[in-house]
Amino acid sequence: MAGDDPKEILFLCALQNAVKHGGVPQAGAVIGMVMGAHPELRSRAKDVAALAKEAIADVAALSPEDRITTLQSRAPEMFAALSEKHEHKKVLPDLEQAGSGVAMRFAPNPSGPLHIGHARAAVLNDAYVKQYGGRYILRIEDTDPKRVDPEAYAMVVEDLKWLGLGITETVTQSDRLSLYYDLCRQLIERGGAYVCTCDNEHFKELKQKKTACPCRDQPVEKNLMMWTKMLDHGYHEGEVSVRIKTDLANPDPAMRDFPAFRILDAPPHPRVKAHVYPLMNFSVVADDHLLGVTHVIRGKDHIANTRRQKYIYDHMGWQVPVYRHYGRMGIEGVVLSTSQMRAGINDGTYTGWDDIRLGTMRALARRGISPDAVRNAMLAIGIGDTDISFSWDNLYAENRKIVDPVANRYFFVPDPVEITIGGAQKHTAHAMLHPSDAARGTRTLEFDGTVLIPISEISPAVTMIRLKDLFNVTITWDHETPSFTYAGESLADARAAKARIIQWLPVQQATPCTVLTPEGEMTGACEPAVKNELKKVVQFERVGFVKIDSATPDGIRAYFTHK
Ligand code: GLU
Repeated sequence: MAGDDPKEILFLCALQNAVKHGGVPQAGAVIGMVMGAHPELRSRAKDVAALAKEAIADVAALSPEDRITTLQSRAPEMFAALSEKHEHKKVLPDLEQAGSGVAMRFAPNPSGPLHIGHARAAVLNDAYVKQYGGRYILRIEDTDPKRVDPEAYAMVVEDLKWLGLGITETVTQSDRLSLYYDLCRQLIERGGAYVCTCDNEHFKELKQKKTACPCRDQPVEKNLMMWTKMLDHGYHEGEVSVRIKTDLANPDPAMRDFPAFRILDAPPHPRVKAHVYPLMNFSVVADDHLLGVTHVIRGKDHIANTRRQKYIYDHMGWQVPVYRHYGRMGIEGVVLSTSQMRAGINDGTYTGWDDIRLGTMRALARRGISPDAVRNAMLAIGIGDTDISFSWDNLYAENRKIVDPVANRYFFVPDPVEITIGGAQKHTAHAMLHPSDAARGTRTLEFDGTVLIPISEISPAVTMIRLKDLFNVTITWDHETPSFTYAGESLADARAAKARIIQWLPVQQATPCTVLTPEGEMTGACEPAVKNELKKVVQFERVGFVKIDSATPDGIRAYFTHK
């Protein structure tokens, strides 16, 4: 039990939290837990806050493995409590009117591959379709030729396949232009839209003053004639647009008679020959209606669009889908802007769309993040409307749950230094491929007197180390020069001496290896058998999980996944 020393209570709480969620907890979460369980500390809020900071720093200094062993030894009951509580699975809130099944859609623009920002809409809509049963439409929204990358059509489909979504049908909006043209004609006939030839600036001024432009009151016949002229190439870009009649008194100027169609002379569309294009609000409504979409889950950044779109539903007399808008999600630490990514790829800053510094699905895949981890992280975030910042630590914690049981363990020695150990016999070490799955067998490391270890492990303060799965080594220092001597195999001796248990490699078995991290490269050597793990995630003991990217006679390259 934690006893009643506040310092110990806070440390154990922070530790339990870190083991449970992966990553280091926020001070607020730890303080909240402690105050809840120990009301006697509430009068000492200031001390508790200071101690919480220290406790979190102490926990942060431990490796994820050490966190588990420390919690197991210092508070076994707190460790046990973690597995007793059933896996906390966030269930998404019910959707109204979903009882008889749903039709939902994921509607990306093909401007680049999908990134982590897209994953939320993609996964949440998918989860609801799976929950209620129904159709899941992939709708490629490519009616703005300025924002189309011809290669993105295939990339989006591949990325969704990787994510494992249950798409039941796919439509591409550029195939559907004639449907939108027909609906526009109907909308004009119903008096819900007009063809406007006002100069943009002039229209804006009138709109600010809540004043109708002269085109608004044209008779339907004139609008229809002008619409036909638009389709027949009778106008040029910028001369004309179709506007939806809304409420000029609407307090939000952005709602007032927004545009629904425009003419674009250039650039040409990569898939179709076209001149008149619907704007997003029109094509989205047309398709949500035509495809029978029942529920739309999208970000709060679309709230204004939802309001605009309702005017079109009203004019047409169509049933409005059920909308849910989730909060904004800030994502730090990676580049997400498609134009920035493309520019970086073109100028050689990034190696491609899967460069590990980018936030694309393909970059995550390359680094060894499993699609299920992305899915679980998004489900945990859910559809709440509060703005949040995306937690990479949570994604990594989800991924760790998936890769930890499957990843084989190997030694990788970063920045290696060669040491010769006196007094030691030749020795064969058998290290487990997985610590909790003996059936997988062992790796064999032949000790022959000289080994590589990470240079960072040796400093004059260190007098004993244990080479993992081999034996203990004492270090004696003659001024700056260390010498290394065999010191027996007892694990208890190593523990008593607080010796670090470190990874090592026989010189003759060391295979050159580079681990690429978003921050830079770690160079060193690893076990030769790592080359058999191509495209798999393994754990380099004490370093972290990595995905083996390539193995050539020059060596192995791996991408760092996470600790
Ligand atoms: N294609 C648009 C987007 O990705 C529309 C999505 C929507 O209507 O939900 O932002």
